[in-house]
Amino acid sequence: MIYRRTLRREVACTGIGLHSGRAVRLRLLPAPAAHGIRFARTDVGVEIPATLAHIGGQDHATTLTRDGVSIGTVEHLLAALAGLGVDDVRVEVDGPEVPVLDGSAAPFVILLHEAGLRPLAVPRLHLRVKEPVEVAHGAKRARLAPCDHFEVAYSIGFDHPLLRHQAFTLRVTPRTFTEAIAPARTFGFLREVEMLRKSGLALGGSLENAVVIGETGVLNNKLRFDDEFVRHKILDAVGDLALLGHPLAGRLEATKAGHALHAAVARKLLATPGAWELVPAGTPSLEAAAVAPSPAPRLA
Ligand SMILES: [Zn+2]
Repeated sequence: MIYRRTLRREVACTGIGLHSGRAVRLRLLPAPAAHGIRFARTDVGVEIPATLAHIGGQDHATTLTRDGVSIGTVEHLLAALAGLGVDDVRVEVDGPEVPVLDGSAAPFVILLHEAGLRPLAVPRLHLRVKEPVEVAHGAKRARLAPCDHFEVAYSIGFDHPLLRHQAFTLRVTPRTFTEAIAPARTFGFLREVEMLRKSGLALGGSLENAVVIGETGVLNNKLRFDDEFVRHKILDAVGDLALLGHPLAGRLEATKAGHALHAAVARKLLATPGAWELVPAGTPSLEAAAVAPSPAPRLA
């Protein structure tokens, strides 16, 4: 039996929002079992559960909204919580956006290690995919398929000489997430920065918190991985899928997808009768049980 987990103690940090450019203080607090992940805007007194039902916008980041109040760029923190297996936590922010920090989930992983994790007396349930579901928008595609563990297979391609194609597949565990995914930073194209700023986005963006791809190379001195870009897409997907409200036992296959498609395939899964079920974490699927050898008879 695997139990739900919360934080051992409260932790906090301060940073600026990627899109708003505003300074924000973030606090992560232990929460009781079945609380789930909830964001609280302490400056306006509104609490927003981290679920698909509260997605308010997905333009370059995932925003949660309730009663006209929003909290933006939640996906990297959600990815760190899901990646490390934190089920119940209260996230307090005193502004409209989660701090971007270095543009990856690594600072949140460090913060969670500082907090420590504590099991709660309630078993964890997995949301197990039973039947594949798929969404597509032009060449963009996202599919959720049955798998006994959480796995992501992602490929991206852009009309840019430095980023024609990248693909990466991994089974997401606290260890693989921490080592292979969490450090991958947000990226953007220099040619788009001006446009984003004109629409009031990326106001807090800089080479301190994003990898910027110019015409002939990356403006930052060096990448953390040769394929840092596709790894960051996996990071975003892990964060967006956390909005399902339960750890996923399934495989995400994504091609040129993004926040909107991650949420769309998750919504389609929940809306498809018989495509999913909640099972105690650690339960092998019926298919796996059917092919497993039966135990040898005991000779008394
Ligand atoms: Zn991201």
